[in-house]
Amino acid sequence: MSKKIMVTRPALPPLEEFIPYLEKIWDNKWLTNDGPFHRQFEKELAEYLGVKYISVFANGTLALITALQALRITGEVITTPFSFVATTHSLWWNNIKPVFADIEDVHYNIDPAKIEAAITPQTTAIMPVHVFGNPCNVEEIQRIADIYGLRVIYDAAHAFAVKKDNRSVANWGDLSILSFHATKVFNTIEGGAIVCRDEKTKQRIDLLKNFGFRNETTVIEPGINAKMNELQAAYGSLQLKYMDSYIAKRLKTAALYDSLLKKVKGITCMEVEDGISHTYPYYPVRVKTAEYGISRDDLYFKLQEYDIFGRRYFYPLISDFPTYKGLPSASASNLPVAAQVAKEIVCLPMYAGLEPEDVERICGLIQQFSGKK
Ligand SMILES: *Cc1c(COP(=O)(O)O)cnc(C)c1O
Repeated sequence: MSKKIMVTRPALPPLEEFIPYLEKIWDNKWLTNDGPFHRQFEKELAEYLGVKYISVFANGTLALITALQALRITGEVITTPFSFVATTHSLWWNNIKPVFADIEDVHYNIDPAKIEAAITPQTTAIMPVHVFGNPCNVEEIQRIADIYGLRVIYDAAHAFAVKKDNRSVANWGDLSILSFHATKVFNTIEGGAIVCRDEKTKQRIDLLKNFGFRNETTVIEPGINAKMNELQAAYGSLQLKYMDSYIAKRLKTAALYDSLLKKVKGITCMEVEDGISHTYPYYPVRVKTAEYGISRDDLYFKLQEYDIFGRRYFYPLISDFPTYKGLPSASASNLPVAAQVAKEIVCLPMYAGLEPEDVERICGLIQQFSGKK
């Protein structure tokens, strides 16, 4: 039988290049708490991404939770059901009521036209997600936020190094959150970050991720422990050197998929808008059963028979999980587009080490399955 191809496989830097970093850590005996690699990594990241202030975290979920604390968000927050659960969980952990708004049908991001109707006197913020790395309609979201005096916190976990008109997408909103989990375009094994606009906010975030300590004897707030350790930071610093080559490989893979799948009726690939430098964190395709002949689920399970493991991202919707499904905004009638997309979407294998022959084989099978129940 053929080798197993998973939806993703992390890229690791050459081991021998990591050894000198480890030796430094062993020499320093400084393992965490704002160590030299932590500082260096934040500086390098800010430069690489083209953002002014960044604070790195132990993971993306803690960054989301802390971001909400940093801006003292309370009450209700308008968000999308079409994301990874951590987006909504971060609200729940802050005792904030999530209010789901439907998504648009092309890039599956929150539909700005649906936000206004969801605003109530309790609304304090909007938490959109740049799904699959496609930037939200950031201008329109900011326009609405400004009218109603709302904060905007982007879950930019998919948008590492994504640029719109040569500007980092992470510069939008009051705060943007990144994830460096093993499955993401850029990984520090586990990891995450908050991008903010000014030094005072960065100081507040840094304090919140370290128990609220301002100095040796002063704890000014109930902070959390969300610090990134020196091993992760050193690894991240080394990873950054390889990012451009990882992204270039992903773009090549995406172009090959696009060219091979465009002739398959009923399969729609991701559309990337002009002015976007994409990184292809995922390679989602939409399956239209009537034209393709079989459903998304049929395709997903048939590929598994050939040892190809896609991922039905995002299915089920967050609003369908037990914690959230009782909320009025979670009803299928409030989220018709999201409900439809969740039934039709599947992410095909996509990672920097994926071979062109594998892409050709996957696309050959997709072509072959067409119309065959
Ligand atoms: C991965 C991811 C997160 C969570 O990040 P972790 O680093 O795994 O905690 C949050 N939101 C989205 C959209 C994600 O894809």
